[in-house]
Amino acid sequence: MTWLDLPDDHLFGIDNLPYGVFSTEAGSTRVGVRIGEQVLDLPAAAVAAGMESGAVWQAGSLNPFLAHGAEAWRSAREWITEILTNDCYRDVVEPHLLDLAEVTMHLPIAVGDYVDFYASEHHATNVGRIFRPDSEPLTPNWKHLPIGSHGRSGTVVVSGTDIVRPSGQRKPPTADAPTFGPSGRLDIEAELGFIVGGGTELGEPVSIADTHDHLFGVVILNDWSARDLQAWEYVPLGPFLGKSFATSISPWVVTMDALRAARIPLPGQDPQPLDYLRGDDPSDVYGLDIAYEVEWNGTVVSHPSYRDMYWSPTQMLTHMTVNGATVRSGDLFGSGTISGPEKGSRGCFLELTWSGQEPVTLDDGSERTFLEDGDTVVLRATAVGPDGSRIGLGECAGTIAPARHRGRHDTTTTTVHSIH
Ligand code: MN
Repeated sequence: MTWLDLPDDHLFGIDNLPYGVFSTEAGSTRVGVRIGEQVLDLPAAAVAAGMESGAVWQAGSLNPFLAHGAEAWRSAREWITEILTNDCYRDVVEPHLLDLAEVTMHLPIAVGDYVDFYASEHHATNVGRIFRPDSEPLTPNWKHLPIGSHGRSGTVVVSGTDIVRPSGQRKPPTADAPTFGPSGRLDIEAELGFIVGGGTELGEPVSIADTHDHLFGVVILNDWSARDLQAWEYVPLGPFLGKSFATSISPWVVTMDALRAARIPLPGQDPQPLDYLRGDDPSDVYGLDIAYEVEWNGTVVSHPSYRDMYWSPTQMLTHMTVNGATVRSGDLFGSGTISGPEKGSRGCFLELTWSGQEPVTLDDGSERTFLEDGDTVVLRATAVGPDGSRIGLGECAGTIAPARHRGRHDTTTTTVHSIH
């Protein structure tokens, strides 16, 4: 038990200990660990408690720590657990606990490569039905490999950052020609983001068994998506500007070690994937028991569950490197929208409103199909912890800001003069 005065069922108790990057008004940006409603200033605590390698946390991102590899992550977790549970550390550690209200949270990693998978069978099937009503909803490759696309790492932002409505080309099926303007079908995708550490050499794949050396932890991820832009641009090369304008992640990185108790068998893979995706030890391929809620302007509109996901995170990482592509510390990959079989477990509004045909009514009586300016979406998630407890992933929030125009708008003859 920790010497901190914390209720047993706190979502950020001693079994969780997620890492984040924070700053105070006076101090530099550095790495901390959340415990209860406080942040432990890690570099300061390391100095105070006589831990020599704490300088790795005196950084504006988790990347230097991620580069130290899985052994270092494990010993750091043991040390943090020790100083927060053993009473003899209390006097030196306690002064370095800061209230959450006193700190500003930042993006936890300098994002390297960013890939977004598509690992929910229910989501892929629903989107297939909506986007391609005249063909099989699942493409022939879908159950043989975790499909994905490369995203834009430079536009990954931390929870709380406003999202400017993107503009672009869109062409409804009934229109003769595309037009330019703000997206009218702006959507979310509730996902789990995986943070990768420890680099590999070019040409060297990561086997299923070796994924444990590279999977550091998870964040809640919102893959904001402009469905009208996406529907027009995605054939044949996949998502592009309809998604690259912004991706939000939660500030606290819950480690794979903290998620040990949340591991569950996958719902079932049929046909069996190829050998390289199965590994030697069946326990290396797993799902995660993580419950989500999607809140739209204060109304919870959906409860997706990560339990329903078809592909294991280890299979996603292995597949991503099977061609010899490297991974680097700070790489991020998203799971794909988390959707379950029922309407109330769909992880995006495209599915929840069935492409806008079935509006959602919010608690204030207003109706929504896609996002309006000023709307706020908050994703929250908790995972199964040890002995029936739960641990928190925190929240990932974003508010929609109006589109910004540059150049000429298609629906008006007014020329907007701007300096390029
Ligand atoms: Mn996505």
